[in-house]
Amino acid sequence: MEPFSRETKQKIVDACRFMQAERMVLGTWGNISVRTEAGVIITPSRVNYDTMTPDDLVTVDLNGRVIEGNRVPSSETDLHTAIYRRREDIGCVVHNHSLYASVFAAAEMDIPPIVEEQSQIIGGTVRCTPEYIPAGHHIDLANLAAQTLEDKNAVLISHHGAVCCGKDMDEALTVARVLEKTAQLYLFMKQMGVGERIIPDSLVHEERFRFLYKYGKA
Ligand code: 13P
Ligand code: ZN
Repeated sequence: MEPFSRETKQKIVDACRFMQAERMVLGTWGNISVRTEAGVIITPSRVNYDTMTPDDLVTVDLNGRVIEGNRVPSSETDLHTAIYRRREDIGCVVHNHSLYASVFAAAEMDIPPIVEEQSQIIGGTVRCTPEYIPAGHHIDLANLAAQTLEDKNAVLISHHGAVCCGKDMDEALTVARVLEKTAQLYLFMKQMGVGERIIPDSLVHEERFRFLYKYGKA
């Protein structure tokens, strides 16, 4: 891969605009990174998505030290790098403050497995970190979120928002959309008084296995 790939940077900017169009972010809250051979390419801190260009992106190492770029990297850089350090299977991290995921983050509630695509692409329950960590405490927040993520592809950060992961950007963005849909469904189920109808663990594992090794294959 070309070092500090411009193509990857453009894809990240496009993904930010996609999140904005999908109303998953407001203002400059939210950030995206991609793991590359040259390091972790991440969005800059507090730069408007409408005006962000590939030149604004920053490359950091797995400890968050800046390798390349002129901007200040995202204030959640530790969150991204903590996940990459723990999970070698993850190639893209998307953080947003989307509405329905934020309902459960604000309520400090996990979202149990309730639909098929959640089991398949997220891997089951989306856990919420057990305590609120204010914005300035990035390392504590990063460690708690990466730990709470476990082996899943999404985690809720208490009173803050969502973190969605995938092997690549397409998958991480799909996880973000599936999480938002799942959170909306779970809220509807709660309103209907049927919030405890969940998919059993054994079937969640079966779905995840099928998605990883069989779905779309001969
Ligand atoms: P940055 O603009 O620094 O990436 O921060 C946005 C955010 O979501 C903070 O949690
Ligand atoms: Zn945030």
